[in-house]
Amino acid sequence: MIPYGRQDISDDDIDSVVRVLKSEYLTQGPVVPLFENKIKEYCGASYAVAVNSATSALHISCLALGLKEGDIMWTSPISYVASANSALYCGAKIDFVDIDFDTNNISVQALKIKLKEAEISGTLPKIVMPVHMGGHSCDMKEIYKLSKEYNFKIIEDASHAIGAKYEDQPVGNCKFSDITVFSFHPVKIITTAEGGLALTKDKNLFEKMNILRSHGVTRDETLMTNKNVGEWYYEQIELGLNYRMTEIQAALGLSQLDRLDDFVSTRNEIADRYNKVLTDFPLFLPLEDQKVYSSYHLYIVKLKSKSSLQRRVVFDNMRKNGVGVNVHYIPIHLQPYYKKIGFKYGQFPESETYYNSALSIPIYPGLSEISFEKVIINLSHSLELDYK
Ligand SMILES: *Cc1c(COP(=O)(O)O)cnc(C)c1O
Repeated sequence: MIPYGRQDISDDDIDSVVRVLKSEYLTQGPVVPLFENKIKEYCGASYAVAVNSATSALHISCLALGLKEGDIMWTSPISYVASANSALYCGAKIDFVDIDFDTNNISVQALKIKLKEAEISGTLPKIVMPVHMGGHSCDMKEIYKLSKEYNFKIIEDASHAIGAKYEDQPVGNCKFSDITVFSFHPVKIITTAEGGLALTKDKNLFEKMNILRSHGVTRDETLMTNKNVGEWYYEQIELGLNYRMTEIQAALGLSQLDRLDDFVSTRNEIADRYNKVLTDFPLFLPLEDQKVYSSYHLYIVKLKSKSSLQRRVVFDNMRKNGVGVNVHYIPIHLQPYYKKIGFKYGQFPESETYYNSALSIPIYPGLSEISFEKVIINLSHSLELDYK
């Protein structure tokens, strides 16, 4: 089966991990800070906090921004469930903003309308969490402007988007957000097996996230109640978690970072080739905003037929023939858990239409010529075209 995405592990990556295994520290050593510094510098952010998953990073981002019971967070229905769950972990309420057809990202127009209505009904969000679907940045400048007008904080769920750019600047610089989060799950752009990271320009947010990832415990005397007790002394000053990244994970990530730009340019080359070959297929192909350089974590086509039946047929047929297509994502508000807390079919129609037609076809740096051809042939047969 050709997967829709997969990791690319080199001998250098393996050596890097083995070096840590032979070293003194398997966790809480020098490699995690090296990894954090390298990403922070790459992105042009001031602070980085590496953790054991993007889900954890989203959770401590929400906590650091003070999200709590009685607060509301908004995100996109077209994301992995983790985006919305992070607000629920904090006891806050979640709501969604429908997507834009072209980018599959949160619609700025829909956001504007919803903010106006929320202002009247007194239900404005404390945080808006835009998701850069497939690695294509949201229009952050516009969202940022709205955040100033309506006084909300922004967490970018950039799980798909390390190595991507917005207005020629790296996603992760936090120019138009409070915090940006990356994921290093193996299907994402670079991997640490499991892992995630939060970036910020704000020292205060950094210090909060730094403490929250490790039990809420500090050894920094300036933060302590009792001073000069002894070398052994630490204080718990928040209710934190154990979300630490290991040295083994960081060593893999540090080594992977050397190839980040290559990974992203290879993904863009594959996307360009798909764009050319699929141009006459009955599909909507990914559109790229002028201001955006996508990392192409996903290559999502949308079937022009409005029937979800056809997507099912194409999906099943391609899987049967060894092409591991996938669907990203089932709208979060349609998950049974979310329906149980009050969401309903019909609330976010663009997202629901998107869901019926979307198909992720394989894209990853190691995708061979033969596999590429196999994807095209199978897709054309599944759509009953006579492609040669
Ligand atoms: C993968 C993903 C996450 C969760 O990442 P983990 O590192 O697996 O916790 C969150 N949001 C989006 C959009 C993702 O794709």
